[in-house]
Amino acid sequence: MRVSLSRSLRLASLLTKPKSFQFHHFTTTTTATPEQSSDSTRDRPDPPPIRVGLTDSAGRGVFATRPIGAGELIHTAKPAVCYPSLNVLHTVCYYCLRRISNPNGAEAQRVSFCSEDCKRRCMEFYDVETKADWAAFDDYCRTHDLKYPFMVKRLACMIISGVASSDILDILQPANLTSQMISRMEEEYGLLRNAFRKTLISDEHVAFLTKQWYIGVLARIRINAFRIELAAGLYEDLLSSAAASVEAEAAVGHAVYILPSFYNHDCDPNAHIIWIDNADAKLKALRDVDEGEELRICYIDASLDRDARQELLSRGFGFQCNCNRCLHGD
Ligand SMILES: [Zn+2]
Ligand SMILES: [Zn+2]
Repeated sequence: MRVSLSRSLRLASLLTKPKSFQFHHFTTTTTATPEQSSDSTRDRPDPPPIRVGLTDSAGRGVFATRPIGAGELIHTAKPAVCYPSLNVLHTVCYYCLRRISNPNGAEAQRVSFCSEDCKRRCMEFYDVETKADWAAFDDYCRTHDLKYPFMVKRLACMIISGVASSDILDILQPANLTSQMISRMEEEYGLLRNAFRKTLISDEHVAFLTKQWYIGVLARIRINAFRIELAAGLYEDLLSSAAASVEAEAAVGHAVYILPSFYNHDCDPNAHIIWIDNADAKLKALRDVDEGEELRICYIDASLDRDARQELLSRGFGFQCNCNRCLHGD
């Protein structure tokens, strides 16, 4: 599989929101940590050459505010929340998903970090995670082959520890859920809630953790999560590559971002999202883009034929693609 990300376009509710979003609303979640931003206002790089605005047909979209050259790095984005794939849990950094070359045998039973910095940042909420017994929740998710609930678990721990706010994903489009999906989520929710109930964490700190919150968050993760495939070692190739998607190793995990979720889809995109060595996303132009032009990425494998793409986009993202390629039957 390749870059197979997620998100959808029907954003009718946004029509009630301001027509244009200023990028600086997102800077703290996309480019800088609170620690970094406190004293670096002057040193901060120029804001990315983009704005988020409304498109004619697809709700929100991201537009170039100046000409952008092919291959240019448009901006980077840190995850709002991420989580490693279970099969690499002990061989990637539990915080940033960077591969760890030599996880030592004894340590590999526990989570590992690539650096003291990641360890320190993760400990802020990992301390909360270790207070609860996750056996029932984890078993349920493993048995049912669920990956997204682990992201909700991490987000819940981040909120309890005060490093994230409970409405952090509210700005993203939620997936439409069937009643079957909702019953499954209610079951997961019960297990998650129970894990915290048996700890000494006060009710006040878990007051946000309602069934409605859980379902709302998961509905957003479902449609906005990016599958992270590291392209380590291929960076030079990527710089010169015009391909919309790149061959890469298996996924090291999944992550949800704010700004990258506003990019609409195109089967012949002018931008793409890549990961070099950890979960920090890089948005790059694939060809020259004019000022004012909408920047779009491909949510799926662009090499699929039209019918396969339409099927995937409709099933996974809930929309029909009307890009030039699709309109011309390519
Ligand atoms: Zn790390
Ligand atoms: Zn298309």
